[in-house]
Amino acid sequence: MTIKVDHIGIAVKSIDEAKIFWEDALGVKLTGEEVIPEQKVKVGFFPMGESEVELLESTDPDGPVAKFIEKKGEGIQHIAFRVENIEETLENLKAKGVKLIDEKPRYGAGGAKIAFIHPKATFGTLVEICQRD
Ligand code: ZN
Repeated sequence: MTIKVDHIGIAVKSIDEAKIFWEDALGVKLTGEEVIPEQKVKVGFFPMGESEVELLESTDPDGPVAKFIEKKGEGIQHIAFRVENIEETLENLKAKGVKLIDEKPRYGAGGAKIAFIHPKATFGTLVEICQRD
């Protein structure tokens, strides 16, 4: 199984404000934005080679990204690894007793299938696995 870093999810209060750093200082381009109502979040993508930075802005004060910023401030919220077969990966993780947030894949930005592993199982980092077809 090959696995690579798909994206790094960074929680910000405002994509419009944060993108100035990424675009002006680093010269990378925001290539798309998408609102994901089920996760109460708007995401903005900055592709960089095989990976991308995903800025996350809450669309609701009760959303998970708003809660994250309230507790920890803006910054890296999760890291996502791309796998070839997310169902198989989830079965493997379950068989190994790894604590999952999502037992089944759900819809992620850009049409990916995603699932989160519980930070308790990963020594503190929210890890997402995703599959893009
Ligand atoms: Zn993500």
